[in-house]
Amino acid sequence: MEQNQETPLLTRRSLLVATAMGSAAILIGRRALAYDVVINPTAPELGDTISVIATPRTPASNQPIVTVNDSTEYPTFAFGNGQYRALIPTSPLDPPGRMVIRVIGTGETRNLAVGLKNRNFPIQRITLSPNRRSLGTQHEFDRVAAFRALVSPDRHWNGAMQRPNSGRISTQYGVRRYYNGVFSQDYYHRGLDYAAPTGSPVLSPAAGRIVLVGRVADGFELHGNTIGIDHGQGVLSIMIHLSRIDVNEGDRVQPGQVIGAVGNTGASTGPHLHWGLYVNGVCVDPAPWLAGRF
Ligand SMILES: [Zn+2]
Repeated sequence: MEQNQETPLLTRRSLLVATAMGSAAILIGRRALAYDVVINPTAPELGDTISVIATPRTPASNQPIVTVNDSTEYPTFAFGNGQYRALIPTSPLDPPGRMVIRVIGTGETRNLAVGLKNRNFPIQRITLSPNRRSLGTQHEFDRVAAFRALVSPDRHWNGAMQRPNSGRISTQYGVRRYYNGVFSQDYYHRGLDYAAPTGSPVLSPAAGRIVLVGRVADGFELHGNTIGIDHGQGVLSIMIHLSRIDVNEGDRVQPGQVIGAVGNTGASTGPHLHWGLYVNGVCVDPAPWLAGRF
């Protein structure tokens, strides 16, 4: 898989690189390297987005790719002064512990080790009727899956995202569930819920392009009325259970623009906005994005 020979990770000297901003990464090994790499945050926990910024040491360096644990590849995009950045998502489903991040360029690979910290998420216990019909149509699932896979090259967001509704948060990111006493390995709350009355405005958290509009009438019986926003470079917002949709597919939206209204459509037990933030196909914790870390 690698283009060059790498010595085992632990036999090489460690090097601490700190930037003026105070971020730091433990770099394993040092020789004539093609990139300087900074990873942020240095001590990520489940749900965090991990930024990997590679600075070419020579103009000959090409755009690198980034892999995690040799199993998943993430794209990099031009970032600032000739740098490249990849955004690595994590979620409550990831195993905590050592992650090996490789930055692979032409002829050179950087290996970096990051410890992904465990995090305790709140637990819900749900009782389901055995006769319950599962909601959702194939059309709905196909459209949402295609939305989540979208990675477009232009970055539309700029700085901190803003909260998409003024209501209080009624369900946090990452909540895990037991159904009828059995822990659900696959479930975590993929977003933030804001409790607000039907009709309360839903705002775009950042600039972007509307790439998904789904309505109950078109088969969105699980998500309800839905808006998907492409913020670029694999960063996407989905807003579900809406009562009203004010945008069309293809529209460009600005941060804070009203795009629809809170509702109770789809599989919802009361009026609220569910906002899911996806990075390269994985729903991440929006908190660091609301804090402007990317
Ligand atoms: Zn929700």
